[in-house]
Amino acid sequence: MTDTRIYLSPPDVGDLERKLLLDAFDSNWVAPVGPDLDAFEEQVAELVGVRHAVALSSGTAALHLALIAAGVRRGDTVLVPSFTFAATANAVVYLGARPVFVDSTPDSWNVDPALVAEELRARAERGQLPRAVITVDMYGQCADYDPLMEACDRYGVPLIEDAAEALGATYRGQPAGSFGLAGVLSFNGNKIITTGGGGMLVTDDGRVAKQARHLSTQAREPVPHYEHRTVGYNYRLSNLLAAVGRGQVQRLDQMIAARRATFEYYRAALPELTFMPVAGYGTPNYWLSCALVDGDRDRLIARLAERDIEARPAWKPMHLQPVFQDCVVRGGEVSADLFRRGVCLPSGSALTEHDRERVVGAIREG
Ligand SMILES: *Cc1c(COP(=O)(O)O)cnc(C)c1O
Repeated sequence: MTDTRIYLSPPDVGDLERKLLLDAFDSNWVAPVGPDLDAFEEQVAELVGVRHAVALSSGTAALHLALIAAGVRRGDTVLVPSFTFAATANAVVYLGARPVFVDSTPDSWNVDPALVAEELRARAERGQLPRAVITVDMYGQCADYDPLMEACDRYGVPLIEDAAEALGATYRGQPAGSFGLAGVLSFNGNKIITTGGGGMLVTDDGRVAKQARHLSTQAREPVPHYEHRTVGYNYRLSNLLAAVGRGQVQRLDQMIAARRATFEYYRAALPELTFMPVAGYGTPNYWLSCALVDGDRDRLIARLAERDIEARPAWKPMHLQPVFQDCVVRGGEVSADLFRRGVCLPSGSALTEHDRERVVGAIREG
């Protein structure tokens, strides 16, 4: 048997998802709304421990609507971790606002709470508080919410949690997605669970959920004659895709266990790499196994590619991106170093023992 390609984080869907999808199809709910959508929202709200969940077409759409809920408008600033995927910062720009980037702490690779507090204090003194602070739960590990919430509460700035990578993780026992004004989840194909594309806004605030639901369906007023008082978006998730999500949620615990086993296997087998620290304050969902390489990181990725194994550099920080070159950054050395030395290894929940051995073997050859 010849070995097949090993991807970084491929979708893991099977018989359960197939059955639920076909049931939805056969029931004729081939529409953006339907019983699977409601059921999927209920399941995720319960999992995250919040009252409301609004299923959307992507995590980016959820970020956009969460920022609208926070009152972000043209000319505002929003604090954003520099070490993230571009979607986090893009949503800020959609609203004509400007991201101000904040560096990470090497302890968890997440945004540094001390730098967030310093930036808020400096801006409060100048009378230029940001309209919102976005945190990201990096690679499936929560940011440090006690000091982050304290800093945001002190200045009355709403926090939005980008938990796109972190469904199933916890911080001091509290689920990822449940911090701040609203949480954002992604069900993109590479995430811990997938609908083939999708996202969700989760919140305890009934007004935030109601507004997100309204804006996601073109802001149609509840009258028959297509009345609109505000500009809306076509951001709702399809009922068919929600059916796939229902199956994925049922398998979440098992998928986290598989990704965790992969992380622990790599960490034990590859002492020459420095794996992302697991902070004592919570449990990650182990979405991606990432580590710092002492030697030539790019050569390592190339060697894996020659053996048909997909590995990627860690996120390129936003303050180093050409598109955001005019934005302000507080710090930046830590995230620059994570990008220079960081590698993400194959982490999919369907990875086999043989796959893991192949990855470790290919790394050790070097
Ligand atoms: C994937 C991701 C998003 C965007 O989610 P989509 O569903 O792809 O729009 C946002 N933020 C972070 C940190 C992500 O990893």
